[in-house]
Amino acid sequence: MSHIKKIGVFTSGGDAPGMNACIRAVTRTALHFGCSVAGIKQGYQGMIDDNIIEMNRYSVSNIMQLGGTILKTARCIDFKTHQGMQKAYDNLKKHNIDALVAIGGDGTFTGAERFSGIFNIPVICVPGTIDNDLYGSDFTLGFDTATNTVIEAIDKIRDTAESHDRLFFIEVMGRDAGCIALRAGIASGAEAIMLPEKDTAIDDLIKTLEDGAAIKKSSSIVIVAEGDKNGGAINVAKKVKEKFDFYDTKVTILGHLQRGGSPSSFDRVLACRMGFAAVKALLNGETRKMVGLRGNNIKFIDLTESLREREFKLEDDLLEMSTILA
Ligand code: ADP
Repeated sequence: MSHIKKIGVFTSGGDAPGMNACIRAVTRTALHFGCSVAGIKQGYQGMIDDNIIEMNRYSVSNIMQLGGTILKTARCIDFKTHQGMQKAYDNLKKHNIDALVAIGGDGTFTGAERFSGIFNIPVICVPGTIDNDLYGSDFTLGFDTATNTVIEAIDKIRDTAESHDRLFFIEVMGRDAGCIALRAGIASGAEAIMLPEKDTAIDDLIKTLEDGAAIKKSSSIVIVAEGDKNGGAINVAKKVKEKFDFYDTKVTILGHLQRGGSPSSFDRVLACRMGFAAVKALLNGETRKMVGLRGNNIKFIDLTESLREREFKLEDDLLEMSTILA
């Protein structure tokens, strides 16, 4: 028998599609195993402000298909201080919360790791971020949906690019990781993909576009991850235009629409698996771990290791084919 009687669940940092499906899975799994559940609103801010609600199975009815997070999310500076953490801990004790499931990105995990270390409260983290930039999981919640959203937008832009013989630069999210850019670029047949992990010289990009023009490509799409070292799609477009005015050039920045929308089947099922596994792990006495998906199996990784390690996550075959298939 586990000594855990009540689990607190929260979402923190950037929202991502699939977070609601995960909240639902955590709630219903915990209730199934005889635990009660508290929903902590606005992440660490809600812990400090005592914005905590009791959850039952109906609190999570009909939320699977919703993007965003019903528990809301926030960035909370106070949680980085000892006083802030103490307040948060006092509120958790007031609600008899014994353990936590944290859904978020590396900032959320850093907070969870520090907090559980100082106050000795069990915590399991679930990777929820569209960027797919966490070590220890092949996929994070929201990445698949965001990539699908980007592809849908690119398909529409290609219609107009093709009709007018235009060169489009499309900026997608990814300050440090080019996962969205690479997958969306492959899946939409982009002529070039600019990634934060790779230094693409403007001259090389122009050479690619010239090669395309030589084989009579009438339109071109260049995907630029926001963290590309040339400084985003506007700058890339400007630099290209200076040297290469063959095409009419246009820039589209997809921005926050990449965060929203109903989660894909992949993200829904992943969210269910991860939420289910997180609760079972807590009840089995695990703590300070991140749930991950590795080779289609749920695996746990030590939280400290997941935060310390940085892995070049872009698949070699995707990188190689991106220039060949375009
Ligand atoms: P994400 O989880 O998506 O990476 P953030 O980086 O904004 O998003 O982190 C979410 C929250 O985690 C922050 O607003 C803060 O409350 C908490 N956090 C981040 N870093 C720390 C830290 N070093 N110590 C304590 N809390 C932290």
